[in-house]
Formats: sequence, structure tokens, C-alpha cells
Amino acid sequence: MVTIKSPRELDLMRKAGQIVAIAHQEVAKHIKPGVSTKQLDEIIDHVIRSHEAIPSFLHYNGFPASSCISVNEVVVHGIPSPKKILKNGDIVSIDIGAIYKGYHGDGAWTYPCGTISDIASKLLKETEASLFAGLAQAKSAARLTDISHAVQIYAESQGFSVVRDFVGHGIGTHMHEDPQIPNFGLPGKGITLRPGMTIAVEPMINAGRKEVKVLADGWTTVTMDKSLSAHFEHTILITDTGYEILTKV
Ligand code: MG
Repeated sequence: MVTIKSPRELDLMRKAGQIVAIAHQEVAKHIKPGVSTKQLDEIIDHVIRSHEAIPSFLHYNGFPASSCISVNEVVVHGIPSPKKILKNGDIVSIDIGAIYKGYHGDGAWTYPCGTISDIASKLLKETEASLFAGLAQAKSAARLTDISHAVQIYAESQGFSVVRDFVGHGIGTHMHEDPQIPNFGLPGKGITLRPGMTIAVEPMINAGRKEVKVLADGWTTVTMDKSLSAHFEHTILITDTGYEILTKV
């Protein structure tokens, strides 16, 4: 069931989204060679809790950390570890969720660590652009897969591929609500978007082929061909005229 949030609920979702954005802003200052992904996770956990919120991901289906930190060929669900030390040239996807008074915010961003290659730099720039190409379709009376299609067309026009195995989602009192939002497919299908719907749009884009696999830990998802992968996500509210980003400071 796709829910329409009340003004009171939207205020709480704005606050949850703002906490996610603040956690991103803070952790971004600490991404540098020599830092472990566990250290970054501790910063994120601290920021979320200091705003009277709870990390959405901790213990979600048994996930053991407060954020997902996915380096280079890791697409999503990287588990922060004291053994994973960032190097110059890495790209670092950080996915953060926060629950504030029962409502979730969810946002991901891929950051450069030090000086990155030209192809890595292009992947980050164009994955972010693919998110905004999708969001440009997000408005009242549009169909859900108008977003999906726009993301795919944009990412593929840049020579990149779209991960099929993970999708965006509705969000509210649960981190994952209906509808599912693929980052690929034909336009004009799925639900009709209405003001008050809140969704998380999150393209995962690979520099190489689209296929991915989950490693033996049951979480870490990597590109099959070991190519770089990037992930950008905002939680948004559908409005009468377009959309409002909720995961912003
Ligand atoms: Mg999400």
C-alpha cells in the first residue's frame, strides 16, 4: 500500500531527512586516506544519536553497523570495518538512514578519497546527474516508471550500466514501503504519483557491466566484473508542482 503522509508526518520526515543530511555533511569531512570505514561509521552513529534519532540500518535484517560503506567495486551494503582502510583514489559510497520519532530518512552519496581517476570522477558526476534526471520526472500525476526510465536513459547515455538487483522505495514509518522504484524500464507504468507520497530514489550505476553478486558475508554486494560502482540517493516528497528533497540540511 502506498501511503499519503499528513502534514504532521511530513514535518517528522523532514527532520529525519535533515539528520541524514547532517550526518553526510559531517562524515564527508573525515574521508581521507588512512581512515577506516569503521571510524566513519562511528561518526555517523554519533551524529544520528546526538539528534535524538536512531540509525535505521543497525540490526535491520541483522545488519551489524549504523551505515553501509561501500568502497570501489562494492555496489551497496558494505559493512564498516576497522580493517578496511581508505586509500588515495578510492571512491566511497555511504548510505545513511535515520529514524526520528518513528519516521525514516534515507540518503546515499559517493565521495572521492583523495585524488581519483578520470573515469571514477565521471562515474560520480554522472551517477549524481542520473539521480536528478530521474527526480526531474517526479511530480503529481506522473507515473512511477517515468523516474525509472529517465535514470536509465541518462546513465546509459554516459556509457555506464544500471544495477537491476536493487531498487528505490517508498519510505515513512518503515524504511522500505511500497512502491518499489527500479532505476530502469519503460516509462508510463506503475502507480500515479500524488502529493504527500514520500519515496527514496537511488540509482546504483556501474562503470562496467550491470551484473552484481553478494559475497559470503551475506551483505557486501560487488560488481561481477570488479568495475567501479556509485550510489546516489535522496528521500523526496511529491508535491503539486514537482518534488521537495527531504534529505537536505
Ligand atoms: Mg534506500
